[in-house]
Amino acid sequence: MTAKIYTVLDKTLSLYSFPGHPFNGQRYFTFKSALEKKDLIKSLGQIQAREATQRELLLFHTREYIEFVKEKDGKGGYLDFGDTPAFKGIFKASRIVTGTTLNSIDKAVQENTKVFTPVGGLHHAFKNRAGGFCVFNDICIGINYLREKHKIENILYFDIDAHHGDGVYYSFASEPNIFIVDFHQKGIFPGTGGKIETGTGKALGTKLNIEFEVGAEDKDFLEGLEKAKEFLNKIKVEFILFQAGCDSLKGDPITYLNFTERVHRETTALLSALADRQANGRMIILGGGGYLLLNIEKAWIAVIEELLK
Ligand SMILES: [Zn+2]
Repeated sequence: MTAKIYTVLDKTLSLYSFPGHPFNGQRYFTFKSALEKKDLIKSLGQIQAREATQRELLLFHTREYIEFVKEKDGKGGYLDFGDTPAFKGIFKASRIVTGTTLNSIDKAVQENTKVFTPVGGLHHAFKNRAGGFCVFNDICIGINYLREKHKIENILYFDIDAHHGDGVYYSFASEPNIFIVDFHQKGIFPGTGGKIETGTGKALGTKLNIEFEVGAEDKDFLEGLEKAKEFLNKIKVEFILFQAGCDSLKGDPITYLNFTERVHRETTALLSALADRQANGRMIILGGGGYLLLNIEKAWIAVIEELLK
């Protein structure tokens, strides 16, 4: 019998919402109503959202930075150099994103299964700063949580969001047990993730960056996926975190790639099979970016349908 697949439907996830920006709470409600429209809710188990504790945030972030976010909450201005506005309630909303990712990890480990959480995958935050609408990096916290709580060491982070996951890459560049594959558009924020960046020191060769030019299409993505397969064939993993950002689909208002939801389907199939083969089926999928609501319906639903196969 295949394991039950889980998701999180909790409106507190919509609190992570930047006023006047497409990264807003509507993305959560779009996901939920797309599941309802497709009649998929009855096929899924559900887990709860929750706030991360201070101790959990400290698994990755500095005490000073956590205090800074708490202090800035609702005071106006930005948490970084002009991307991430400190809206009222941002401290709590950010802790909910992280806590929910950690709940997803716990469920995936306990039941050897896969969990999709729509709001998460905040890959631009660093240990001491915010970046690109990302306050706390739930992926980096999640990796350290897997190591500390679950004693899981060999972890794959796979990111198909249109932006490079700089906060994850640079935080683990020198760690050989953290494998990273990152697909992204060349030349947009944050401007990092060149193909020569493959890890440092004893971790050289444990990271793979695949860049796309403006207007890249599915066939380009699938070529990239072949390279990723070669990379994955050489590694052994115990847990997978998949950042399934859909800002790489055609029509996104802030990026310039022309993929369809087929890329989400193909990547989910690949990673799901890898998780089943090597990691007792354990994987979490984080929604990541994606600012055209129609693409959220297409891409994230494609991921869920593929997980349910
Ligand atoms: Zn993005």
